[in-house]
Amino acid sequence: MPEQKLLPFACFRKKIVPLEEAKINFTSYSLQYGATCFSGIRGYVREGTVRVFRLYDHFVRLANGAKILGLKFEMSWDEFKQLMVQVIQANAPQHDFYIRPFIFTESPMLNIHFEKQVFDLGIYLAQISHVFDPLKGLRLMVSSWGKLPDNYIPTKAKAGGAYVNSALAKSEAMQNGYDDALMLDGQGNVVEASIANIFIVYRGEVLMPETGAAMLEGITRRTMAEILEEEGYKVKEARIDRSMLFTCDELLLTGTLVQIAYAASVNGRTIALDGKPGHFCKLLRKKFHDVIDGNYPRSTHWITEIPS
Ligand code: PMP
Repeated sequence: MPEQKLLPFACFRKKIVPLEEAKINFTSYSLQYGATCFSGIRGYVREGTVRVFRLYDHFVRLANGAKILGLKFEMSWDEFKQLMVQVIQANAPQHDFYIRPFIFTESPMLNIHFEKQVFDLGIYLAQISHVFDPLKGLRLMVSSWGKLPDNYIPTKAKAGGAYVNSALAKSEAMQNGYDDALMLDGQGNVVEASIANIFIVYRGEVLMPETGAAMLEGITRRTMAEILEEEGYKVKEARIDRSMLFTCDELLLTGTLVQIAYAASVNGRTIALDGKPGHFCKLLRKKFHDVIDGNYPRSTHWITEIPS
């Protein structure tokens, strides 16, 4: 795991406060039942400004998550953005960082239902380095934990409690000397990694699991697919089984924390023959840098610039 340093100010009850003052009671319904909905966003510090990647898309996914879960959370895009700007400016970050907005309730209610409970937004920030060494391929394992299906807990909402599933898979992988886990659905199709989406290059085509698979629709995944299409490649949604993993030419993980990582091996079967990033990994990393540096046609569309 990367080194992580929490930044000093948080947004709590719609005010900017020192992080240590952002506290909720330990009887809180959200803590007891994992009833939260969260997001993970990246801010990049470049030339004296903060560039936040696809902030609006993250807001939409967070609001949709609350809608899917049926949580009462009412906040406009303008208010969300304003709070985000305030908390970022209060922290004046000097290095690239991670933003964690989340919806929670302070209610001490013991009943299991969340009817009539009002959910609030909290935001905190952390300085973060690489999750994985970009020059080293990942050693992945297929998890013995299945990916929970969408009709058990919705997978298109980042529901806090659902992340026990990801935590089990990632912990098992680490306990067995691997870097991360790939998770299969009940039919044996690969859905995603613990906290990242996947792409594979298979018989010359770029494939990604179907949108309707029990996975989070990653904003990095969408960006990568859009970049590939713009670069003239066709990205196909497909069912990907375990055999395809073992024989693919490239296997990539994409996500806000992971960024773009590549697999060296899956369950000990070599994927990256020379151990180095493949063509698509290199291409996507380069284009993603261009996006953040403002050198890609869609940069202005995808970046919210915040003077620090
Ligand atoms: N799947 C899961 C389960 C995740 O937690 C994440 C991280 N948010 C992703 C995929 C990647 O999504 P994104 O690119 O939006 O970070």
